[in-house]
Formats: sequence, structure tokens, C-alpha cells
Amino acid sequence: MPSTRRIFVLCFAAWCVGRGKADEPRVPAKEKSTTPPAVAEIPAAESFWIIPLRVILLQSDEFPAANCSLRDEDLERIVGKVNRVWGPAGIAFGLESIRRETAIVPERLKPVPAAAAKDAVIEQGSNGKEPQSAAATHKTAPQAVKPHEAALRDAGSSDLFRAMIPAADRKFAGFRAYYIHAFDVNGIYYGRREMMIQEMAELRTVPGGIDEPLPRVTAHELGHGLGLVHRQDRVNLLASGTTGTGLSAEEIAAARKAAEKIPGALKMNDLEKTIAAETDPQRQALLKRWQAEVAKLTN
Ligand SMILES: [Zn+2]
Repeated sequence: MPSTRRIFVLCFAAWCVGRGKADEPRVPAKEKSTTPPAVAEIPAAESFWIIPLRVILLQSDEFPAANCSLRDEDLERIVGKVNRVWGPAGIAFGLESIRRETAIVPERLKPVPAAAAKDAVIEQGSNGKEPQSAAATHKTAPQAVKPHEAALRDAGSSDLFRAMIPAADRKFAGFRAYYIHAFDVNGIYYGRREMMIQEMAELRTVPGGIDEPLPRVTAHELGHGLGLVHRQDRVNLLASGTTGTGLSAEEIAAARKAAEKIPGALKMNDLEKTIAAETDPQRQALLKRWQAEVAKLTN
């Protein structure tokens, strides 16, 4: 039986350790203790599923938060890294195209013209500061008030962004990843094989994690697209807000099962035949590029 003195020393030590981590977000103990090892080995090329991925960079002159500034080469690098994350699962995402689309900005998010912006002046005054005159404010204010900033602070602004996705896009077989400038979360999987990611994404660094946020956020949202749920062990791909990329054998099995059912998904061992049967030379070239990407991953 430990003495009372010993119990006191142990409690004091635990208290000190607890204090040292006070500035870190706490991870619930039960989630920490059930960490299956991540699968690191990449399986043979023949076992791969290739899922088409269309990348859409939303553009907007009237709503800066929607206006993504990423370049094509950024997206090629990002998708390459996503495929290295998913490699151990035998799943690769075939970059179908990188497009730029004008965001459909809902009326309530459009900037208010300066002539109609008197309400904004009144609200500044109600913040406990001296009310400013409309004339004084308009002298220094830009042409319009910025409702997008308020929308960004709103929890749930990511829901508003979903309305910016053109409905016609939903016919695409495969996943669609939309990139915008900024909203209230790093990324969101909306369902219907569509996800949105902010180019300003920030993550908490964890040991062995990936070196940049966007491939991780994209790979994480694709994980949701393949039916995976959050698992908060920090170094895991499905942990929230970290650079972790680990996938367990269970997650891999579930994701592969889901991959089969994604419209447009191709099995690598049938790809040679599919390529030979393809009559559209552009599509044929695309399939060959995906085949080469998997070969590169597995070599
Ligand atoms: Zn998530």
C-alpha cells in the first residue's frame, strides 16, 4: 500500500505535468489510449483504386473571401502530396482538371455600396466608442463596407459558402474539391462528393506530420468523403486540425470499400483495358497520366 506521503508526491507530480500542458488544447484521455498503429507500406499498383478528383478554384471580385489565389502548380503539388498520404490505403486521386469558376455570391454577402452604408456608421458608434459622423467615416472608408469580414467571423459561415457551388458541377463522377480564400474552418466535407478548403488553412504540428496544411486538409476531407469519421489521436489523418496523416488498417479497409462505390472510380488492374477501349484521345491521355502517377507512387 502506498503511504499517504507517496500519494501526495504523485498527485503533485501529476498537477505539475498538467500545468505544463495548459496552453495546449486538451485531447480526451480515452481518445489518446486507443491508437492503432498507422499503416506505412504502399501496396502493389494492381490493388489501387483511382478516384477522379476535379479541383475548382472559386473566383470573386465582389467577395474577397471567396477569391482563391492558388496557382495550378500549387494544386499539382497538393494533389501529389494527397496521393502520398493515401498511398498506404491503395487509393489515388486522379486529377481530372483544375478549373476556375466564378462563385455565386448570395445577396446578403455582397458588399454594401458606400451610398447605402449609413447603418455601418451607426454600428461603429454602438461599440462603446464615440459615434462618428457619416461624413467623417466616408472620407476614410473604402468604397464599400466589408460584410465578408462579419460573415467570416460567424460560426457557420462555411454553410453559406456551399451556396456558391454551381449546381451543374454535381454531375461530375468523382470528388470535387473547391478552394476559397478564407472561411470559419480549415475545410468542410459537404456530402455529395463535394468539399471546400480555405487557402489560409492552419494546423497544429504533430510528430511525423505533413509539411504543409493544404494537402493535409484536402486528404482529411477526402477521408470524410470515403466515409471515415474523426479520430482524435493527433497523428492520425482523421484527427481535427493537426498535421497528422496516419491511417489505421481498419480505416484503410473501410475507405477501400467506400472507394468501390464512388462514381467514376477505376480499379488499377482494369485500367490497361479501359485505356485500350477509350476512343477519346484526351480521356485516354488522362487515364495514362493517372496510371503513371500510381506507378510512381508504388515504385
Ligand atoms: Zn474533419
